[in-house]
Amino acid sequence: MNPEVKADEAAFLMQTYKRADVEFVRGEGALLFDDEGNEYIDFLGGISVTSVGHCHPEVVAAVRDQAGRLMHTSNLFYTAPMVALARRLSTGSLGGKVFFCNSGTEANECAIKIARKSARARGVEHPEIVSFEGDFHGRSYGSLSATPGLAANPDFGPMLPGFRSVGFDDADALREAVNPNTAAVLIEPIQGESGVFPVSDQTLLAARAACDEVGALLIFDEVQTGIGRTGSLWAYEQGPVRPDVITTAKALGGGVAIGACIGNPATGEVLTAGDHGSTFAAGPVASSAALAVLDLVDDPDMLRRIRSLGTRLSGQIAKLGGVVEIRGRGLMIGVRLEEGINSSDVSAQLLKRGLVVNAPRSDSLRLLPPFVLTDEQAEKAVALIEETLAGYHPVESK
Ligand SMILES: *Cc1c(COP(=O)(O)O)cnc(C)c1O
Repeated sequence: MNPEVKADEAAFLMQTYKRADVEFVRGEGALLFDDEGNEYIDFLGGISVTSVGHCHPEVVAAVRDQAGRLMHTSNLFYTAPMVALARRLSTGSLGGKVFFCNSGTEANECAIKIARKSARARGVEHPEIVSFEGDFHGRSYGSLSATPGLAANPDFGPMLPGFRSVGFDDADALREAVNPNTAAVLIEPIQGESGVFPVSDQTLLAARAACDEVGALLIFDEVQTGIGRTGSLWAYEQGPVRPDVITTAKALGGGVAIGACIGNPATGEVLTAGDHGSTFAAGPVASSAALAVLDLVDDPDMLRRIRSLGTRLSGQIAKLGGVVEIRGRGLMIGVRLEEGINSSDVSAQLLKRGLVVNAPRSDSLRLLPPFVLTDEQAEKAVALIEETLAGYHPVESK
């Protein structure tokens, strides 16, 4: 890659990321191209963002058209794309009102505010929010405090009070942790950043029951699972319970930054004038992009394709040498590798061979392929994974 870009990155960007040695310059559908003209199949999608593929013509047209007419007015005025998007998100999920923002982190901040205000309204003085160990909810102090793995870093303390966590998918511990001070249980229905771990139906039912018992809210962070990723518009639709609030971002804008916190008819009324805000949120360009994304994804044929492609890919990858477990749903796939095979190493090799994946933990790969992946691209990707894993001479074949 261009050494100047690399040197300037090191000189001028705060070094908060470990980047792979690739400079991407173009994307089209499931493909990415680097500055040397090499082609890659993108099984990461900018971390579950470009789910409809790179530069989808419908999204590009919506952005171009809107960018040429009006880009920003602030939320002190009405704009039609924002209102149309709110209607669409509400009617397509919990049926309550929507708050817009610019990221997943901010969507969760809004949910936390709704939870705390609701708890205070029923007389709770020290509201608590319960999450699972391994959950990821974001990087600002509220969402960070709800992210146990990162909140434990003493460099950034103190965290906000009023957050606690229990073991992942531990229904008993969750029941025990929920008490009259509980404002909300805030969880990812399928943990994404920690490596694709679905919460069991039985725990989801326990969470719903525990929340109902004390009047707490059940909040699903669908920032990664939402917008079709699991084969339904929202992951909760395939589970046994309905949450009171969901948060979304990542794939919502097809590559343009936008997030939303969506309530049910009751929780959507909690925040009122002055309670919350955002300068950029749901600007005309981001809203138009999101409407184009929903036109593509909120479609029975598309959702069926996600499920069938997910089943096929998972089945094929499960059979490969070096793979010991497949987790997830739809096109959100965690692949646990045989002991002794380091996932970061595999991910680096795959990148060299032209497949972009990610390694959220040392024993697992995470695959988040785009919904527009062709059968041929899917086959090629499986072959690349097979070839790469074959190079490891696993200790024992299965
Ligand atoms: C990515 C992610 C977030 C944070 O979203 P940002 O847009 O990076 O702020 C929150 N929750 C989950 C489940 C995520 O995957």
